[in-house]
Amino acid sequence: MSVLVATTMEECRGAIGRLRPGRRVALVPTMGALHEGHLSLVDLARERAEVVTVSVFVNPTQFGPGEDFDRYPRDLERDVRLLAGRGAAIVFAPDTRTMYPEPLLTTVTMRGITDDFEGAHRPGHFDGVLTIVAKLFHVVEPDVAVFGQKDAQQAAAIRRMVADLDFPIEIVVGPTVREPDGLALSSRNAFLSAADRREALALHAALDRADSLARDGVDDADRLLDAMREELSRHPAIAVDYVAIVERDSFRPLRRISGPAVAAVAARVGGTRLIDNVVLEPHER
Ligand code: AMP
Repeated sequence: MSVLVATTMEECRGAIGRLRPGRRVALVPTMGALHEGHLSLVDLARERAEVVTVSVFVNPTQFGPGEDFDRYPRDLERDVRLLAGRGAAIVFAPDTRTMYPEPLLTTVTMRGITDDFEGAHRPGHFDGVLTIVAKLFHVVEPDVAVFGQKDAQQAAAIRRMVADLDFPIEIVVGPTVREPDGLALSSRNAFLSAADRREALALHAALDRADSLARDGVDDADRLLDAMREELSRHPAIAVDYVAIVERDSFRPLRRISGPAVAAVAARVGGTRLIDNVVLEPHER
């Protein structure tokens, strides 16, 4: 299956314009260094649309000073090969000057959902994410866009931006793809040493504890948080940024679980910052 690689907005719009008549268009935004998590989103997109566009853009505005923008893994050739194998029609891979010919004077900023957790630990991150996603939506004009639950707060923020700003786009959120031992796939896993890789399993172990307690009927957030912290504290090599039990859509901390909830964790392992989460199913009473 051949895939068209567009590097300018005009090329991308032109290719989509030719393929669109009578077809649905999907967008899967990524920063490249693709893994099976990203590719599972392409599969979901293919189920919902005939023309799947995948953007590959390491977006500088969502990285803070001192973060890993410069060393973020990049391998477009490999990404294109993988995407061709999964039936993507178009890869949109612009460079920074294409997306930001001038410093932006206009950005998308959100309150509430993005205030805490990733937003607090990465100031400016969500402005960068929401702004680039809004720009990509305007270039591709997809009928459907697919994101991963792996970035739970991002997924909640994007759903809300689409509602608030009337983007006529269906948002689909795909489940987190994991290694057989539970580690969530992430482009940043490439930075982990063998020892870090073993330590990193603690994030999943902590989430697993919260998940099984919630399934057993524990609905008190403090008890779930204590269990997660206890699990993580067995790994002194891990520096925890936060553990959280929040309502899935608003990302407001919960005292008690009664509806859709997310247990989330962010931690640094060696020099690598990892995030993970699970959706908690409230216990049937
Ligand atoms: P990124 O390239 O890290 O910006 O991620 C691009 C998209 O892939 C986002 O919607 C992520 O939530 C999603 N994603 C990243 N890792 C995974 C994973 N392990 N499983 C499912 N989706 C993922």
